[in-house]
Formats: sequence, C-alpha cells, structure tokens
Amino acid sequence: MAEKWTKHKNEINLINPANKRNIDIIVVGTGLAGGSAAATLAELGYNVKTFCYQDSPRRAHSIAAQGGINASKNYQGDGDSDYRLFYDTVKGGDYRSREANSYRLAELSGNIIDQCVAQGVPFAREYGGYLDNRSFGGVQVSRTFYAKGQTGQQLLLGAYAAMNRQINRGKIQAFNRHEMLDLVIVDGKARGIIARDLITGKLERHSAHAVVIASGGYGNVFYLSTNAMGSNVTAAWKIHKKGAFFANPCYTQIHPTCIPVSGEHQSKLTLMSESLRNDGRIWVPKKIEDAKAIREGKKRPNDLSLEERDFYLERRYPSFGNLVPRDVASRAAKERCDAGFGVNKTGQAVFLDFASAIERYGKERASIHGNHNPSKEEIRNYGKQVIKEKYGNLFQMYEKIVDEDPYETPMMIYPAVHYTMGGIWVDYNLQSTIPGCFVLGEANFSDHGANRLGASALMQGLADGYFVIPYTIGDYLAQDIRTGKIPTDSKEFDEAEKNIQDTLDRLINNKGSHSVDYFHKKLGHIMWNKCGMARNAQGLKEAMAEIRALREEFWKEVRVPGSQYEFNSELEKATRVADFMELGELLAKDALNRNESAGGHFREEYQTEEGEALRDDENYMYVAAWEYNGDPATEILHKEELIYEEIEVKTRSYK
Ligand SMILES: Cc1cc2nc3c(=O)[nH]c(=O)nc-3n(C[C@H](O)[C@H](O)[C@H](O)COP(=O)(O)OP(=O)(O)OC[C@H]3O[C@@H](n4cnc5c(N)ncnc54)[C@H](O)[C@@H]3O)c2cc1C
Repeated sequence: MAEKWTKHKNEINLINPANKRNIDIIVVGTGLAGGSAAATLAELGYNVKTFCYQDSPRRAHSIAAQGGINASKNYQGDGDSDYRLFYDTVKGGDYRSREANSYRLAELSGNIIDQCVAQGVPFAREYGGYLDNRSFGGVQVSRTFYAKGQTGQQLLLGAYAAMNRQINRGKIQAFNRHEMLDLVIVDGKARGIIARDLITGKLERHSAHAVVIASGGYGNVFYLSTNAMGSNVTAAWKIHKKGAFFANPCYTQIHPTCIPVSGEHQSKLTLMSESLRNDGRIWVPKKIEDAKAIREGKKRPNDLSLEERDFYLERRYPSFGNLVPRDVASRAAKERCDAGFGVNKTGQAVFLDFASAIERYGKERASIHGNHNPSKEEIRNYGKQVIKEKYGNLFQMYEKIVDEDPYETPMMIYPAVHYTMGGIWVDYNLQSTIPGCFVLGEANFSDHGANRLGASALMQGLADGYFVIPYTIGDYLAQDIRTGKIPTDSKEFDEAEKNIQDTLDRLINNKGSHSVDYFHKKLGHIMWNKCGMARNAQGLKEAMAEIRALREEFWKEVRVPGSQYEFNSELEKATRVADFMELGELLAKDALNRNESAGGHFREEYQTEEGEALRDDENYMYVAAWEYNGDPATEILHKEELIYEEIEVKTRSYK
C-alpha cells in the first residue's frame, strides 16, 4: 500500500513539455480543488481555461473553511504517522472508503503544508516559530494546521495567487461569472462544455481535450446548510446525466456545532468550527425540569452547578470525549434533544461551554506571567485572552448572530447539513466513467467513506489539485498529443447548446405562481425530515414520491422573472434547483437501498441497543455507483466492492 502511489506514478504515461503546449484543459470550479489544479496544470505547460460563477475565484465556497487542514507531520511528537492518518480516515469513514485512496491522501498531506507555506500561507505558529497544531474529531493526535478561524480563506489566497501568476503568463484564461450548464461529449470523450455568461446571459461553447470538474458539494439540496448560498450540484449532475456514475449520494455529513435554526425565514445556517471542540465542553442539564426552566427563560445555564450538567459525550465516549467524529456527536445531540433535554426555545440545541477552558488557560497564563496566586477575576481575564487568541473571530461571529456573549454564557449549538461525502464516482486517476472527464474535491465521492473527519476536505481538495491530477491527467492526455484543436461547430456542440436553450426558454416563459425559493424550501423540508440525520424505509419511500410530485409542480408552477439576456440570479437559481429536484430523489433512493447504518447514513432500523450505527459488512461493503438512465427513480446500481488488506475491519468505537 505504501508504495502504490509511487509505483503508479512511475508507470503511467508522461507528456513532454512541447506537447503539453498543444493540449487544452477546461477546469470548472476555482475553489481549493479547481484553483490548485488549474495553477499546477498551467505551470506544467497545458493551456487552461477556468470557469466559476462568482465574480472572482477568491469567493469560492472554500473561503468559508474555518478550522484547519490535516497533515501527518507529527510536529507534536504525539505518535502521528501517514499510517495513523490513513487508519483514522478509514475508521472515521466507517469502513466505507477505498484503502488506496485514503493512504495516498495521508501520504500527500505533508507535501500540501510545505507547498502552502512556500506560497506564504500564514499558518498559526507557536512561540518558537514552528507551525502550530490543534485536534479535530475522531483522532487522538494534534495534526490540524490552521490560520486562526480562516484557514480556507488563507489557503485559497495561496491557490489564487498561483493561478494569477499563470493568468499573467497567458497560460490560464479565466472565465469568471460563467456557469457550466452542460458537458459536450464527442466520440465518447469529454471534449468541452456549454457555459452561460452570467452577465450577458449568452451561451458560449468551449472545447478542450479534457474537462476537470471541481464544482464543490451538494449540501444545499437540503436548502438549509452551512454551505455558501450558491453551492449547487449542476455541473456534477449534468455530467451524471451524460454518463458519469454518481456514488453514495446518501452519505451526507451533519455537523454537530452549528448555530441552531431560528425560524422559518432563514435561508442559511452558520457553522461554529469543530476546532471549538478542542476546548468547548458539550452538555445539557441532567434534570429535565432544569432543561424546561432554561427553555422558558426561568433559569440561566450558569445557574447550574457542574454536578447538575450532563457532559453526555464525555459520559458516553470517555476515550474521545468531546472530540468524537461529527456523525457520532450529531446523533448524540439529537438523542438528548429528542429526549426532552434541548436548551433553546425550540428544544433543538445543546450547550458548548468554554468555562473550564477559560479557567485552565487562565491559571496557566497567570503562572507564565509569574502570578502564582491569581484572583478568580485575573484567571478569567487571562483565560479569556487565550480563548480570544485561538477562536476570537468565531466568538465574534457567534455574538453578532445570537446577540449573546459566549465568553460569559455557553454557546448554543445544533447539528446542520455541512458536507457531502457522496459525489461523482472516480477511479484512482480521478477520472469519472466518462473518458476525459475528471472530478476533484468535494464534487467527487473519493476518500472519506460514510463520514468525513474534520479538516480532511481541504486536505483532499488540495491533494487532488496540487498532487494527483497533475500526474494522472497526463496518462489520459498522452493519446491526444496529435489531436489538434477540438472544433466547437460540431453537431455535438449544437445539440448540447440547443438543449440548454430549450430549458432556459421553458423556465423564463413558464410564468408560474411560485418563486424558485418556494420550491427549494419545500424540497429542503422533505430532505431534512425524511433523509436527514435519521432515516427509515417508510420515510424514504414517501420522500421519493413527494420529491417527484414537487418536481412536477416545479415545472408547472415556477416563476422566473426577467429575461435570459441579463444578470438574472433567479434564473441561475432555477436551473440549480431543477437539478437538486432530481438529485434529491436519487439521494433518497440510495439511502433506501442501503439497509444498514454507516457514518453519516443512519437508518433507524439498523442501530445497536445503545443507539450506535449498525453496519452490515456482509451485504453493503461496497460503493454504490448509480448510472443515469433517464429518471432518478430507475437509475441502475453498480457496486464497487471495498477490499481491506491493511486495516482490520471492526465495529467502530470511540468509547
Ligand atoms: C462553513 C464551512 C467550514 C468548513 N471548514 C472546513 C475546515 O476547516 N477544514 C476542512 O477540511 N474543510 C472544511 N469545510 C469543507 C471545505 O470547505 C469544502 O469541502 C471545500 O472547500 C470544497 O472545495 P472545492 O474546491 O471542492 O469546492 P468549492 O470551494 O465549493 O468550489 C466550487 C467551485 O466551483 C464553481 N462552480 C460550481 N458549479 C459551477 C458551474 N456549474 N459552472 C462554473 N463553476 C461552477 C464555483 O464557482 C467554485 O469556484 C468547511 C465547509 C463549510 C461549509
């Protein structure tokens, strides 16, 4: 296993520099995965065209990543290694990921940090100048590198700077505010895309020898999620409809530490980074009367003594405590709230409390300052200072949204949709089932199995973009060195453009009675209630029927104001929601097919007596790769068997 990637790289085809200059590559998406890929491919000599729907690559959703990025550098000397990161990833994913991919990810993780440091990414450092680390869920080492609570933003600035260098050299042509609406296949190979210029509204044809899709995740199928408002499935869904298999769509990550839903008019949820679980302790009252009193505003959380608080993660999972993986922490929060212990008005919130950390850090800092007999107030002030240095921007964000001071009173949190482990099926070269169409980052199904460990998405996106695709794409493109430019006046381009034009005309001319958001919200309700944190066969069957009916209503009743030939954000949303309406049904179908619980997929029928996920390795140790055949309800299932040679498959336990 440890040699596999090196051996693979040594054996695949290379293209000499002169020939690379004759090869064009389209990269759809310029977040961390697409941005890093575009910069590196252009540096290698390929002609790259990039596409993103924002006004600048700098605004990709990757910018939102707060907590950090993992790497097995073992800077803390706490026993980390490539093997341990690999092991944690496979176990964290509930034994539903590919061993070889997870190993490669761990092996490349250190290179990513070196690359980003060389670009000038300002990772947090310790007093002595060494890079600092913190811990994320599901591991017992500190391997997460971070830049305050803005890790994604800083990494994206690094990738964007690398892209800009290539734009300046003329090796990247950047098409911002352009949305890919279809893939063009010529003679069975991906040869281009149809994109809409979102400012003028015109459709454009772009050809290339290969197309790389790095369009991010599809969490917004749930309407409310921590994803950026624009995040969508369109690019991935369009290639799926053209032949790329969609893998494990039901594996959705519900993140335990988000600001709870406040009402029906909300369109976005806010994450409180997992890094906070390094120092925050999660609890609800032990007595149901106290929970009720807190909900009714008759008691404050700080009125309860330590003995009156149930630190339920520490109680249930003593070895990992508050740092259990996200799926485990989310389910435990739901269990307590369902049992009546929720602490906000709706009963759907638990506390994340920093009082102990403030005291612990306060004593330590007082001692460093030579104050060996500090008062309570001095301890609190020192402690708050440390917490502010570590998480200041997150605390400020919480205070602005909730209007409570989290230094003084515990935060309230509840699980929310955050990330999608499912995505387009890719092989070890990151190629989809369409030759010449590669998929990177959150858009592919790749490395995380049924649950992703925190700080691993940035690692995966950058591994894919900086270190995997630059090698593997050459293996495919070696056959194209004499192909020459791909023309865009072929019947395949005509057909693809016509199909899109028809869809846009239909949406604009529909003149229905409801807005796009009306339908998106309804879809979100179905998804969250029946395909969310807990699912069962009955609910999933109902969800499939309800989504289908909603989709029909959408096409009859949706209203899109304005015209195609202008900046029309409602039209953009309409095309995206139309695709979510189809994906939603496939997601429910996949969840219904998987008669087991694993990671982020929790089927109520399959749980242990203690409420833990119950896998069925005999029947479901496979990747479910769905082939489109004209209707989400009748898609064809292909199974990729998962084989474990390096790691013993066990019941996943964090107790
Ligand atoms: C709030 C939040 C915090 C997070 N924190 C962390 C963290 O601390 N650590 C971690 O590892 N992970 C974190 N994650 C997850 C991580 O941020 C994402 O998984 C990752 O950034 C996705 O990167 P990406 O490049 O695959 O996609 P994105 O960054 O989503 O980029 C997608 C790109 O595709 C483009 N695009 C999409 N569709 C089209 C189309 N049809 N046509 C043209 N362009 C298109 C977009 O314009 C954009 O450029 C966090 C996620 C959230 C929501």
